[in-house]
Amino acid sequence: MVLIFCAPSGSGKSTIVNYLLGKYPELEFSVSATSRAPRGTEKHGEAYYFLSTEEFQQKIKEEAFVEYEEVYAGCYYGTLKSEIERIEQKGHHVVFDVDVVGGCNLKRIFADKALSVFIAPPDVQTLRKRLEGRGTDAPEMIEQRVGKAEYELTFAPKFDTILVNDDLTTALQEADEIIKNFLDK
Ligand code: ADP
Ligand code: 5GP
Repeated sequence: MVLIFCAPSGSGKSTIVNYLLGKYPELEFSVSATSRAPRGTEKHGEAYYFLSTEEFQQKIKEEAFVEYEEVYAGCYYGTLKSEIERIEQKGHHVVFDVDVVGGCNLKRIFADKALSVFIAPPDVQTLRKRLEGRGTDAPEMIEQRVGKAEYELTFAPKFDTILVNDDLTTALQEADEIIKNFLDK
């Protein structure tokens, strides 16, 4: 089984996904490749496989990706076929954290094996506050992310489920219910 999580940056997707990964040992995070630089304490092979733009393009040529997108100008992100194989070999369910376009592509590929969840902020102003509060992005990066959020929110109806992350405790409970129902299927 496959779980796909998408959200505008700052919606609380990492918070919710990390909670679920901690709670369900049978879930495993699919580590994407990216050409962006590591942020804060991010480590190669944990948050992402950090590649140079040249290395990323080489992998595109080798058809090593299930899907990839230039999510922000000059920053590529992609799901490696080898990563999915690695997780499936362990008998674990794959958890994807990808952008909205990647999420729709993965849903198309995995179809009934997949549940796609869109995590939405209560509103764009709250989203900006959360990004500022997180303190990991430069002001122009925050502007870029907030600017993209309106576009990303238009994708919400394409997902199997929409989870609004307003009060965190409530959102975690709802996430829990959604996952339990899906895994029990
Ligand atoms: P994303 O992965 O979607 O970019 P994060 O999980 O990093 O978002 O959350 C962005 C910031 O908002 C973090 O500092 C996080 O602690 C905070 N946050 C997440 N959910 C909530 C919530 N429901 N209420 C208030 N703050 C939240
Ligand atoms: P960040 O720079 O905040 O880690 O991620 C930026 C965006 O890239 C997020 O929306 C994240 O979900 C998305 N992303 C991460 N990995 C992938 C991937 O493998 N494919 C796609 N399409 N998007 C990804």
